[in-house]
Amino acid sequence: AFEGLSERLQGTMTKIKGKGKLSEADVKEMMREVRFALIEADVNLKVVKSFIKKVSERAVGLEVMESLTPGQQVVKIVKDELTELMGGEQSKIEFATRQPTVIMMVGLQGAGKTTTTGKLAGVLRKKNNRKPLLVAADVYRPAAINQLETIGKQLSLPVFSKGTDANPVDIAREAIEHAKAEHLDTVIIDTAGRLHVDEQLMQELKDIRSIKEPDEIFLVVDAMTGQDAVNVAQSFDDAIGITGVVLTKLDGDTRGGAALSIRTVTEKPIKYIGTGEKMDALEPFHPERMASRILGMGDMLSLIEKAQTNVDEAKAKELEEKFRTSSFTFDDFLEQLDQVKQMGPLDEILKMLPGAGKIKGLENAKVDESQMGRVEAIIRSMTIQEKTTPEIINANRKKRIARGSGTSIQDVNRLLKQFEDMKKMMKQMSGMAGKKGKKKMSM
Ligand code: GDP
Ligand code: MG
Repeated sequence: AFEGLSERLQGTMTKIKGKGKLSEADVKEMMREVRFALIEADVNLKVVKSFIKKVSERAVGLEVMESLTPGQQVVKIVKDELTELMGGEQSKIEFATRQPTVIMMVGLQGAGKTTTTGKLAGVLRKKNNRKPLLVAADVYRPAAINQLETIGKQLSLPVFSKGTDANPVDIAREAIEHAKAEHLDTVIIDTAGRLHVDEQLMQELKDIRSIKEPDEIFLVVDAMTGQDAVNVAQSFDDAIGITGVVLTKLDGDTRGGAALSIRTVTEKPIKYIGTGEKMDALEPFHPERMASRILGMGDMLSLIEKAQTNVDEAKAKELEEKFRTSSFTFDDFLEQLDQVKQMGPLDEILKMLPGAGKIKGLENAKVDESQMGRVEAIIRSMTIQEKTTPEIINANRKKRIARGSGTSIQDVNRLLKQFEDMKKMMKQMSGMAGKKGKKKMSM
């Protein structure tokens, strides 16, 4: 299983807590963890090496910010650097001033060229108001032509094809003429792939390219290609000169290290990512999200920032004191609920947790906020005395509270039990923390 960088750095973090500056030895130790995280994300080894060197230089001698632990700070530097490396240009398309714009899709077999051709056409029609023509220039497999025609039908978009006997270069040329005649302003050419990079294929792509210099040549790469992605990207770029990259199959569990590798080696922007087999599963590339994903840390830093702004320390101390002396009441409980609510919708907070990306189904998970509403209603239906000394809540009182809050007696019982359990647990926790001399309450 993946372990996020933040977890990995935990050990190192505690060791160097309290130091003002990061020493070379500290940084070296942390960079070992960063290296593991990158390798685990399948970033190319050479790329990892140069990246580590760069980040180390930035980290040594750095003053540790007051609000962050040294570990968090290193995570931040690493993440910022990754984001910067992969960032820059947005997923904008260069449209030709003279119609039609020509976009060529290239890549190895199975990378997702045909699927992405359809997805991209859909996006350009919807977002840019373009009129696309899909061109079936992969003549080596009859199935490839059928596949594009099916996609065209599905999207109600025209497909230009000529059967398997035609020459791909002729097909592309005629398709561009056809687009002009039909006032279709965007020609997307789906080309053939091979299992490996080969000379014959590159020659064919060069020939297609020479008909009318494409405005974009997108290399489609399967994100699971991992280490090999660098060689593939380099070969295509050297041979025909790509203008951008689409990284597909990021809906799987790959950590997306290929994005960093390809970007570093070719210096060509990642424009889009494919996140599923369906036609709407194409998204603009977000460098920051990809950096988090590569490091396997969810959106840890935003979570840290949110927590810091929302829980003020004096309040936390006061609460801890209440736990310790068992004077925690339902009013305090309500206040806690409010604080959690201030942090934002619960399902979003959950998604920011490290490792949350690995939890199946969380994408669509909706935290039951109505459950929280019920809890709130029950507490608000209690008298002041009941809130401070819940022990007095007998059957009659339970009935009244349930009626008042529009819930059931079972709901009231459940909350009372949870409250008792929580108090017990908190008391134990604050007792332990007290012995270790720690003052801060953890979230
Ligand atoms: P091509 O040989 O490069 O044209 O690749 P295809 O477009 O035929 O795609 C190969 C396989 O990958 C097909 O089964 C696609 O449905 C699948 N595929 C393409 N893009 C994605 C993606 O982003 N996510 C997933 N899960 N599958 C994809
Ligand atoms: Mg294909």
